[in-house]
Amino acid sequence: MARSDESSAPHTPTLPQRQKRNAVGPSLKDYVTVFLESKLRLSEFYQTTLSIGLLLMLKTTLLAAIAVIGLSSAVAEQTLLVGGDVIDVERGTTMKSQDILIQDGIITAIGVTGSLPTTEDTTRIDMAGATLLPGLSDSHVHLTSNSNWHGFRRLTISTPRAAIAGVVNAEATLMAGFTTVRNLGAPGFSDIDLRKAIDEGDIAGPRIIGAGQAIGITGGHCGDATVLPYEAQVKGRAADSPWEARQKVRENKKYGADVIKFCGTGGVLSPNTTINAQQFSLEEMKAIVDEAHALDLKVAVHAHGPRGIYSALQAGVDSVEHSSMITDEGIDLAVEQGTYLSMDIYVSDFILSEGEAAGVLEESLAKERQVGRVQRERFQAAFNAGAKMAYGTDAGVYPHGTNARQFSKMVEWGMSPMQAIQAATIGNATLFGREDQIGSIRVGKAADIIAVTGDPLQNVRELEDVDFVMKDGTVYLNALD
Ligand SMILES: [Zn+2]
Repeated sequence: MARSDESSAPHTPTLPQRQKRNAVGPSLKDYVTVFLESKLRLSEFYQTTLSIGLLLMLKTTLLAAIAVIGLSSAVAEQTLLVGGDVIDVERGTTMKSQDILIQDGIITAIGVTGSLPTTEDTTRIDMAGATLLPGLSDSHVHLTSNSNWHGFRRLTISTPRAAIAGVVNAEATLMAGFTTVRNLGAPGFSDIDLRKAIDEGDIAGPRIIGAGQAIGITGGHCGDATVLPYEAQVKGRAADSPWEARQKVRENKKYGADVIKFCGTGGVLSPNTTINAQQFSLEEMKAIVDEAHALDLKVAVHAHGPRGIYSALQAGVDSVEHSSMITDEGIDLAVEQGTYLSMDIYVSDFILSEGEAAGVLEESLAKERQVGRVQRERFQAAFNAGAKMAYGTDAGVYPHGTNARQFSKMVEWGMSPMQAIQAATIGNATLFGREDQIGSIRVGKAADIIAVTGDPLQNVRELEDVDFVMKDGTVYLNALD
């Protein structure tokens, strides 16, 4: 399907029906209410008799409810994707003319077309002529940010406003074929609430691995607001000692973060920070990583300059975001430790061509000119040295739903289309620690499947316009006919 701009992107006005939870009959709470009210009205004798009766009734209702659940899963919706070519990202091959059977949101069988047993109730979706891939993922997005909220405008955005943007951006991201994202920083834990709203079926969006509030230092990138005058006294998310940093990690865990993000150097888009400057001492970085790992959380560090990158690698982070000026020594250490590099080598194009109109300050444009090209060269060096490369884009700095534009950059700078696709699927899934659940089309994994009509292994830009999106077995987009 041709898509000329974002506004013509397919839109789902309502959620697929099976996502909505229906209330069936009186709830347990209703019975308890009746029970308590009657307790007030009736004498001891009747009360006891009624209590027993009600308890028996409750038990019967519960058993009936369990029976209904059992029955509905026995006749659960079964979907068959018929006759598509399937990219096996684990083996790096394509399987021609395959059928994929899906039940309860899980892939239950894959086989040559016509070979799988189905019933007359099975929903069949024709995929002939399409190439199927696992749902894509992006290891670095900001769903609660809009790409025109740059410069001083950012200071006017409240947390509720950010959350509302997140609802729109989550849907755009899913419709672009990205069924999983890692959200690395959001105001007021708005990404965690977004995740809950998606998981509970209120809105459409990708599965979210959320960092909550990123941790920075006083006067630093993702610390406090670096352009406000002294009298504003904004503490923000800044931590200034190993123990303050540990406290911030614990606070993130408390409010539902799935991953910890901290900023190990200055940033491009924060005024008055220096991209070369290290943020946090090695001691503080080690405290963050130690605390996060103790709480079973992985750690992503934002880092552009070489010293901050190297210290964060020494501290044992799980991924280095941006990695713009990583040295050969840094690459060697990343390779040795198996640390992922999440290098956003598309976003520079947006910042330098459209950033100014979007409100990016001249100071930030100058910083981007400094890192843009060198980051791509270091990407190539790291990839050639055998570093694990994630697919992370910093969506939110540029418009959500165009996450796939980075594929062609990764191919331009040394990857094959298959390698770029592997980074965005099984690679990211492994970085997230979710490789048992997502990242490839395999029996037992979640039915997160996308499709395009062309062959992305010939032209990776086919992924910029996906024609079919399924997440957890639910079809959100089908423009294949
Ligand atoms: Zn970011």
